[in-house]
Amino acid sequence: MRSYDAIVVGAGPAGSVSALRLARDGASVLLLDRAVFPRDKPCGGGLTYRAIRELPVSVDPVVEDVVDRFEFGLRYCHRFERRGASTIILMTQRKRLDAFLAERAAEAGAEFRDGAKVTAVGEDGTVRVGDETLRAEVVVGADGVNGITTRSLGLEQGYRYGVALEGNVPYRHTRPDRYRGRAVVELGVVPGGYGWVFAKGDHVNVGVGGWESEGPRLRSHLARLCAAHEIREEAVESLRGYRLPLRRREDALVRGRVMLAGDAAGLVDPLSGDGMYEAFVSARLASSAALDLLAGRTDSFASYADRLNAELASHAAASWAAKRALDRFPRVVYGVARIPTVWRFADALLRGELRSPSEARRTTKAPLKVVKALGKLDERLAA
Ligand SMILES: Cc1cc2nc3c(=O)[nH]c(=O)nc-3n(C[C@H](O)[C@H](O)[C@H](O)COP(=O)(O)OP(=O)(O)OC[C@H]3O[C@@H](n4cnc5c(N)ncnc54)[C@H](O)[C@@H]3O)c2cc1C
Repeated sequence: MRSYDAIVVGAGPAGSVSALRLARDGASVLLLDRAVFPRDKPCGGGLTYRAIRELPVSVDPVVEDVVDRFEFGLRYCHRFERRGASTIILMTQRKRLDAFLAERAAEAGAEFRDGAKVTAVGEDGTVRVGDETLRAEVVVGADGVNGITTRSLGLEQGYRYGVALEGNVPYRHTRPDRYRGRAVVELGVVPGGYGWVFAKGDHVNVGVGGWESEGPRLRSHLARLCAAHEIREEAVESLRGYRLPLRRREDALVRGRVMLAGDAAGLVDPLSGDGMYEAFVSARLASSAALDLLAGRTDSFASYADRLNAELASHAAASWAAKRALDRFPRVVYGVARIPTVWRFADALLRGELRSPSEARRTTKAPLKVVKALGKLDERLAA
């Protein structure tokens, strides 16, 4: 049986960055993905600057647009724009980003096998690929929302799910200058989510996402988004839908020699639907826990979940509250977002200047408390 220090299942952002970090520190690493690369993944492809700060390599070669402004709309009627203190988001395409990161992992020494579907993962570190069984001291399950690791280990206990639908509109069908340099976010148009228009090199990405129950209505939500932006529906190419996994704090992330990272761990932000920042944070913490175990500094991954909760849980709790508040009281939340100090706070969070909402300045705390209270009110009304 072939064995490695670490096997990483899935070569998305969480898997490739885990493999890269492990290989750079001298571990023997096998990175497996069922898809043949380059492959695409349904995604808006927006890398917030706080996600960029988490990356151990520059992604400049695959950046297609640089965003320093947000344009917020409410129900396609009212709108306002806010500029960030510097770059807020780098726009890429997942087909390019994921292939680039997998190549960097291979360059660092990881063995990358694409077209290799994992069919079972054992808590003893065994991984089944086709008719081969492999073994590792450590397994990182980074195989996304539909992966095999969580199912193999019975770790998919209590996730809730969002859904999103996105597609691309070539620039010849729209107005590039309207969208370059800014992220357009439409609020109050999809229950449990929002619509977006993001600029890329030669097209815009349009999308809508919301509660899982909105699945059957996503096409009509997207049609309304297109109409509001004077985009013909027939101009939308490569339309794809996908699930967004939302973890509860108590959901387990470890079983035996296996840790979950990224979407496999249900780490998508409930409010924004972003998951790449969380994928990179979990990759950093999982690889650090793995290296500790390989070096004999610890004999279990017990601290991984605590460290992940310490970095992400307060943000996730604030996002849940804001999501609920936005859902029931979109006008109020839109009004709060217009307050200059609130925008400066959101800008600092997205750029990674602030690590947690608890670091908000005193002047921002009052409006944030209103949003939190509205979120609680929604919870009570829904119960
Ligand atoms: C429509 C939409 C828009 C989004 N927009 C954004 C955005 O703009 N910004 C942002 O930060 N986040 C966004 N997200 C979320 C983001 O896409 C995910 O959080 C992110 O892809 C998670 O990365 P990951 O590495 O955990 O999983 P994935 O990217 O899903 O990668 C998992 C990998 O595992 C592989 N795999 C699965 N099963 C197996 C198996 N059995 N064997 C081997 N390999 C396997 C898959 O082929 C895949 O390559 C969006 C999500 C959706 C659905």
